[in-house]
Amino acid sequence: MSTNSPNKLLIAILLGITLGIIIGGVTPDIGVSIQFLGELFLKALFVMVVPLVISSMIVGVSSLGDVRQLGPLGTRTVLFFMATTGIAVVIGLLLVLAIHPGTPGTGIDAGDLANVSERLENKPATVSGLLHTILTGLVPKNLFSAMANAEVLPLIIFSLVFGGVLTTIGERGQFVIRFFEGVNDAIMAMVHLLMWTAPVGIGALIAGRLGVAGGFSGFWPQLVSLGAYAATVIIALLIHALIVLPLILHFIGKQSVPKYARNLSTALTTAFSTSSSSATLPLTMEAVIDEHGISSRTARFVLPLGATVNMNGTAMYEAVAAMFIAQSYGIELSFAQMIIVVLTATLAGIGAAGIPEAGLVTMVIVLKAVGLPLEGVALILVIDWFLDRCRTTVNVWGDAVGAAVIDELEKK
Ligand code: ASP
Repeated sequence: MSTNSPNKLLIAILLGITLGIIIGGVTPDIGVSIQFLGELFLKALFVMVVPLVISSMIVGVSSLGDVRQLGPLGTRTVLFFMATTGIAVVIGLLLVLAIHPGTPGTGIDAGDLANVSERLENKPATVSGLLHTILTGLVPKNLFSAMANAEVLPLIIFSLVFGGVLTTIGERGQFVIRFFEGVNDAIMAMVHLLMWTAPVGIGALIAGRLGVAGGFSGFWPQLVSLGAYAATVIIALLIHALIVLPLILHFIGKQSVPKYARNLSTALTTAFSTSSSSATLPLTMEAVIDEHGISSRTARFVLPLGATVNMNGTAMYEAVAAMFIAQSYGIELSFAQMIIVVLTATLAGIGAAGIPEAGLVTMVIVLKAVGLPLEGVALILVIDWFLDRCRTTVNVWGDAVGAAVIDELEKK
């Protein structure tokens, strides 16, 4: 791609977003009728996730030279994910305590309540249940069903082991590695092509979702009714995304923050419009490796893992939402309970899949851990589609910053 292509694409995407907001906001019916264009874009992204994760993990681990290097790389990555997620949760908690958006006596809509019970059915609801689901989910029973259900974590684990073993079986292993290098290059070339449809796809997704919400006149009352809560989540996300992560990127990652943000603009706007870190992964990889030039050796490992387990925005939102629910029910949480909120929100962020509104489901764990009423989720349901977009954007930004930082640490 030529050097001014990203700028042209960025302008086109901004235009797409603006048009999407106007169409969906002013004429919701038209917004809904063009939503299929966005769905096509989303499906095209999703279809690349499985081959991309498998090939990039295999190529990534085999390019480490010595498979033992995976240990330090993995440890740094996990520590980075945990530290930034922990910081995000604490910011959210402090802000929700300071702003205190919840007031006791807020009513719950019966329709929302029914919706919540339906969504939460058969989902792990305790910390040990979630840990059990995460741990048993690490190993796929059947590779094809894992692929068919886009269960990314077991695919990552399988590909890591597979890639590591390929380096130990000589010439035949090298042959297979070269095959996956070819697959990886081909998928990335397809991502390059797909990027040019992003302005239409992103615009149509936004127009469609605003249309479903009833345009500006439908969305505005939703935002106002939960205004203080939504503002708390958004301010906390902004502090993390615009202050904390850039400081880390500048001082530890040694990257120019504006340049990195500009190169990631397509991925970040896609995260906002799709509410899915997994669907955005192909574009995140394209931006970090091809546009910005972070070493593919690190990014191929950090980004797929990050899209699955590193969710700064989601974990932060879980803490804010849980505290908001407590405040709305007039329940005072003790200091020890708040520590439990921090720990379980971090875990719930790790456990949430990179798909739309996954965080809403894992929040049950936070609520249960401190004995808050589960039906409190109904209080925040109506605005969740919008906050999901905001937190997914921060999730993806956190992964990208992680790739730069880990790469810098690896150089040392
Ligand atoms: N939609 C988020 C993501 O894909 C997860 C969530 O918070 O619901 O990153």
